[in-house]
Amino acid sequence: MSDVEKLWELQNVLSQLADREKQMSVKPESFAAIDREYQSSNEEMTRLQQQLEQLGKERRRVDGELADQQETLKKYQGQLMQVKNQQQYAAAWKEIDATRKHVKELEDSVLKNMTESEAVQSQLDERRAGYDELKSRYDAAHESWQHSLGDLRTESEQLRARATQIESTLPPRLKNQFDRVYKQRQGVAVARVISDSCGSCRTRIRPALQQMLKRGDLVYCEGCHRILYLEPTQS
Ligand SMILES: [Zn+2]
Repeated sequence: MSDVEKLWELQNVLSQLADREKQMSVKPESFAAIDREYQSSNEEMTRLQQQLEQLGKERRRVDGELADQQETLKKYQGQLMQVKNQQQYAAAWKEIDATRKHVKELEDSVLKNMTESEAVQSQLDERRAGYDELKSRYDAAHESWQHSLGDLRTESEQLRARATQIESTLPPRLKNQFDRVYKQRQGVAVARVISDSCGSCRTRIRPALQQMLKRGDLVYCEGCHRILYLEPTQS
């Protein structure tokens, strides 16, 4: 096998490998649908959990303030017993009134917090109730997708081994040239000649270059700079 033929075969093996890898990276719709449902359910549960924690934090803060205010209220009520004149009495009542109002506000806030927490908790419970069933559907779909990848994995391994084997027979300089074009030209380093033109970019190949190709020389396309491969049947 000539060097150019080896490069052509290497190109084919690598193209097939890229195709298998692409297929493996794409989630099939059968799995993608359940995957989306599963991920969004997880996100929603996390969100509800965080909301619940936030409400709990707020509840503890309000409870603390409420206890302080109730203490203050007791203090004013005690002072009321010890007033010496009408003026002191009025002043103590004013404080008691303001504190009671504040206590009432805090109590309302606790109630509101409890109602919200219950609503969030029931949403979370509902999610959790359906979670096991969703998780097992997700696992089954994932398992069957992974199973279907088995053949592609085997093929990929074989192609990779074949590529390594071809590469080992190439002169290092040629291998470097191939790699350079492969990287620069979106994974296609070698283009087949089709009716005297480059099969990749359609640039016409000058007769002088065609002669070189027929001799088996390494020729680059003048349009896309890929390595040209002329099939033996055409020579
Ligand atoms: Zn070209």
